[in-house]
Amino acid sequence: MITAQEIDRVIRFDGDGLPVVSVYLSVPVDPADRAALPTRLSGLLHQFRPRVADERLGREQRMSLRGDIERLEAAASEEMWTRGTIALFSCSGRGMFERFDLPRRTRDRVMVDATPWVRPMLAVLDEYHRYCVAVVDRAAAWIWEVYQDEIRAVDRLRDEFPRKPDFAAWFAEYGVRNRTEELSKRHFRLVATRLADLFRTGGCELLIVGGHRHEITPFLGFLPDALRARVVGTFALDPGTSTPDDIRKLADHAIEQYERAEERREVSRLLETASGGGLAAVGLRDCLWAGTVTAVRHLAVEDGATAPGVVCERDGWLARSGDACPLCGAPARRSSDVLGDLVEQVVDDGGTVRHVRAETGLRRHVAAAALRFPLPERPEDAAAGTGG
Ligand SMILES: [Zn+2]
Repeated sequence: MITAQEIDRVIRFDGDGLPVVSVYLSVPVDPADRAALPTRLSGLLHQFRPRVADERLGREQRMSLRGDIERLEAAASEEMWTRGTIALFSCSGRGMFERFDLPRRTRDRVMVDATPWVRPMLAVLDEYHRYCVAVVDRAAAWIWEVYQDEIRAVDRLRDEFPRKPDFAAWFAEYGVRNRTEELSKRHFRLVATRLADLFRTGGCELLIVGGHRHEITPFLGFLPDALRARVVGTFALDPGTSTPDDIRKLADHAIEQYERAEERREVSRLLETASGGGLAAVGLRDCLWAGTVTAVRHLAVEDGATAPGVVCERDGWLARSGDACPLCGAPARRSSDVLGDLVEQVVDDGGTVRHVRAETGLRRHVAAAALRFPLPERPEDAAAGTGG
């Protein structure tokens, strides 16, 4: 599991005068195509190989770059490829090498800079929430962290509340009912405090709570307001008889429901904003133009959708069709997936992206975007306006 701490470590890394090499390599879906990965990586590294011999760089810098190339090529031959994209960061002179397996494919790219180039990685990870799943009953609690497809046990709490109570002894004690309620209150308070600590320090964003149906609501009452606001789902089960697999399935279901509902809310907000004449673009044509002029603050695209189109390599013009770029006149490059080009461009311009899996208006519109500023007139429209 990619932890918040690992991501943080890379974000904060500084080469302190030595170059940092960042590489993004997308992994083909078909395992048979993966044999070409080392060659593709070599091709990427080739872009900065001349710098290793560049006398304008200090000896220490060149040595570090040489070490980076060796380390990266070794990583490519390890063949531990998974799905999506591999992000590699290397600064051998400072003993830094990090590898992340990202769940979504991005374009192959390499960057050499003073710090790691993390934006493409963060853009991919941004789409995945970190969930904390707490299964709670009156005597115990089990806590997991769920991120992407992975689940990790975080903690297990047990109170002194007797699991197999000796009823005779209990009834002999005056006020036994109050006593057991006090104990479960104490336990709930303990669990709530533990969860609050986890959210403060561990990078969890959202909370799912499972347990006996009649105990969930009382337990939620013990959560601090800020944490209760992060509860996005609950599920009922008997913690005493459930297997980890049962819990995993119920938690996944709760997460799935929340994610799809959030996507539907987001898309309807964008569609409403656009229809009200606000700062939003709907449909591929407008979104491509918005991407061209770096107007996209946030882009929602139908997950899995692709669309052919054209791209100007010189200034980033994107469109459905055209032979030459209307901005600079350069010949346009055909792209088998201009939607993918748009996503990359939005990320490079500091925007965010969400791939929408829920059934929404995007099935028809493919893309919608929240804008930073109103779209300027397109060059072709301006020309048509002048012409008649
Ligand atoms: Zn152009």
